[in-house]
Amino acid sequence: MKFCPKCGAPMVPVKKDNTVVLKCTKCGYEIPAPPEILKKYRLESRTKEKIVTTKVISEREESEVDKELLEQAKEEYYEFVLEQMGEYGE
Ligand SMILES: [Zn+2]
Repeated sequence: MKFCPKCGAPMVPVKKDNTVVLKCTKCGYEIPAPPEILKKYRLESRTKEKIVTTKVISEREESEVDKELLEQAKEEYYEFVLEQMGEYGE
């Protein structure tokens, strides 16, 4: 934990633009985050993204609408194949 050089309050990592800064919780004073905090912060945000992605995939798999669309696509594919075969037969 870093402390503010101005007022001594604890400083927390805050995402700013494309980087992370340490911001004072009391007076808002900002300093660039040291590399170990940047690394930890990026690791944490990546883990969160992974959880969100996994959740989206499992929701999609359970979706009835997607199953219906898949069945429909299969039927259309078979119809297409049969049509093609019919044309070759003539
Ligand atoms: Zn401060």
